[in-house]
Amino acid sequence: MKHLEDYRGIVSDAILADLHKRASKLYDKHIVHVNSTAQGGGVAEMLYTLIPLMNDVGVDCGWRVLVGGSDFFNVTKSFHNGIQSESLELTDQKKRVYTEANENFAAYTHFDRHDAVIIHDPQPLPMIRFYKKRQPWIWRCHIDLTDPDPELWEFLKGYIMRYDLVIVSHEQYLRPDLAVEQRVINPAIDPLNQKNIDLPDETIAKYIERFEIPLDKPFITQVSRFDKWKDPEGVVEVFRRVLKQVDCRLVLAGNMATDDPEGIEMFERVKDKAADLIATGQVILIIGASDIEINALQRVSSVILQKSLREGFGLTVSEAMWKQTPVVASRVGGIPLQVIDGETGFLVDPNDYDQCADRVVTLLNDRDLAREMALRGKEHVREHFLITRLLGHYLALLDELTK
Ligand code: UDP
Repeated sequence: MKHLEDYRGIVSDAILADLHKRASKLYDKHIVHVNSTAQGGGVAEMLYTLIPLMNDVGVDCGWRVLVGGSDFFNVTKSFHNGIQSESLELTDQKKRVYTEANENFAAYTHFDRHDAVIIHDPQPLPMIRFYKKRQPWIWRCHIDLTDPDPELWEFLKGYIMRYDLVIVSHEQYLRPDLAVEQRVINPAIDPLNQKNIDLPDETIAKYIERFEIPLDKPFITQVSRFDKWKDPEGVVEVFRRVLKQVDCRLVLAGNMATDDPEGIEMFERVKDKAADLIATGQVILIIGASDIEINALQRVSSVILQKSLREGFGLTVSEAMWKQTPVVASRVGGIPLQVIDGETGFLVDPNDYDQCADRVVTLLNDRDLAREMALRGKEHVREHFLITRLLGHYLALLDELTK
């Protein structure tokens, strides 16, 4: 079980005392979060820590995971892509599949006694339509909302307007066309979970050996779902350019979220694209690594890449920065909140492979620069993107909404 006092020494006692004070105002409240996957992706990653911590500080807080079939997740992935600017054909059939799964789930998911309901992302968004709303409902959207498919957005707005509040991850995602109050809350990482906790060198070595990654050369890594928005194919292109200047390896570690049906297809495409480099052991693909294994990979990599084309926030960036591993990442979505170009890492144009390769090579060759940036990166994450801060935001918000 998570306990707030375990974070002493990572953040100040003053911050922890303030969290206890805020939580005390919510002792008799009952809160519920709903999302669509218990595993894979940044939302589940945050809920895993946030919810136990809320209970630890005395707020009854539950978690429901929407149950849906493959048709539903195909539709919601196409909506996810549509929100991230891809055009889609919004058929009545898609709307029906989307709405019916929510109606069914709502029928056996009872919220009568809860004081606030927090719905994460578009998958469970329509649930609100099937309740007599007795408490504040918050839609917490983790996706970049800057350029959604217009027809899809109009359709989704029909549900969003029933909410009391919308929370997004970045000021740029605030929508002037929403008739609902909106706020910005940055996502955060948990420094004490298996993904981020300090590891002894022997433990790191054990996991790296298990993946059969030879340590004779430096390696660069991208940790991400196999998803077109994470651009794993582009990462391979960048790596080919890096290889011309530095002898190194590339590790692509990915998993498949249960609410993302496109993962396997993308994995196969990357495998084809990098077939020659996989054969020579220069590219290593890893699927389904555990949290502690990802932790070890992020620690021992010489550079972490996050070459996303779109990115709501990109927890993987803060995860790497917390471990003092230097980062090269795309200037998209929430990444520039984390990476201050030239200070806490390098930002690159996601379509400029040469620039990206050049920055990776700089960090591989100039280890003093890499170390300095990584040190500043860790302090930047400590200040802005730790779970204690996220907890504080939620406690303040819930106190305000449930008074
Ligand atoms: N992740 C993981 N294993 C993998 C790939 C990703 O545990 O093979 C984790 C990653 O460490 C991070 C989360 O999944 O905690 C992804 O969150 P992010 O915000 O980067 O992207 P999302 O998947 O939510 O778009």
